[in-house]
Amino acid sequence: MNSDSARGRALLAWFQAAARDLPWRTRPAGQRDPYHVLVSELMLQQTQVSRVVERYHAFITRFPDFLALARADVSDVLALWAGLGYYRRARLLHAAAIAIVSHHAGRMPRDINAIRELPGVGRYTAGAIASMAFALPEPLVDGNVTRVILRLEGRELASDEPAAQALAWRRAAELVAASDHPGAFNEALMELGATVCTPANPRCSACPWSHTCAAFGNQSQSNIPRPKKRAARQALRLECVVLLDALGRVLLEPRPATGLWAGLWHMPSTESHGRARPDPADLLNSLALPSTPLAPAGSVKRTLTHRDVSLRVWAGRLSVRGPKLPGRAWFEPHALPAMSSAHAKVLERAHHALGALHKQS
Ligand code: SF4
Repeated sequence: MNSDSARGRALLAWFQAAARDLPWRTRPAGQRDPYHVLVSELMLQQTQVSRVVERYHAFITRFPDFLALARADVSDVLALWAGLGYYRRARLLHAAAIAIVSHHAGRMPRDINAIRELPGVGRYTAGAIASMAFALPEPLVDGNVTRVILRLEGRELASDEPAAQALAWRRAAELVAASDHPGAFNEALMELGATVCTPANPRCSACPWSHTCAAFGNQSQSNIPRPKKRAARQALRLECVVLLDALGRVLLEPRPATGLWAGLWHMPSTESHGRARPDPADLLNSLALPSTPLAPAGSVKRTLTHRDVSLRVWAGRLSVRGPKLPGRAWFEPHALPAMSSAHAKVLERAHHALGALHKQS
């Protein structure tokens, strides 16, 4: 009996008792609906589990399968993604559903290479689908798995180093191949990293692998993985103008199809560079809108993966119906298009400021 199969059994025994009750775990891993696996895995990338738990059920209820999702308007998909951030994943999920309906008769292919060709599906997600939906012994490696394997092997590497990734994928493949339940094994391995072998203060006394873990053996857990070299964060400062017309409609424009907040809607904005702050009234002039006073309405700050974003809010109200403007539209407050949570907050601040001004006048 090899030690990896013994490790697998110990991990599964631990998982049976310790697995968290999560809404996508309705069937044992290995027999799960591939649609549910794809949706939950894409939602979980770069978003906290608790936030995904809040949104998953509503998404699956509205779009219960690949066909329903493929037929949906992408703006409806983005609206239901609100609060999860990184909206590019929602667009890719929608594109994957269209590809599955168009090229695979609405069913997820079982072949790992065909799975990997789907939009938004990389090596990790393909491994999750193959193992959790089809019980295939395909590995998966995320940040949690990398950390567990580096500690298990006692390798003091940063988790984004090529040597660390090569080791993690090789060992994850060996470990899952040695298990009789590859889907449950992969899920349990990620769960171990998320709940026991945590970045700080791992709970080694509760770990099913402590007796074969090199880091635990020489007490080097806190040195593994080594800290990553951090890229310098960029600051982005925007002046955002929230303009209502006499009907109470707000002026919005679509973001570009790529980049930050891709494809969502936002209010007209200009970027500040250096110390200079652009005059928000110039924005109205550039759109040939009637001039109207703009009141400062505070600011909204967001810390994104690579940027610190600061949005300064200006609010104004036209005394006439908003004119038609190319590439922009006026929206009723109850029928807003998909926006980032930061821009939703900007809108809230502006409404609050305009309401206060209205009471004063
Ligand atoms: Fe991680 Fe500790 Fe388990 Fe080793 S013994 S895998 S360091 S939790």
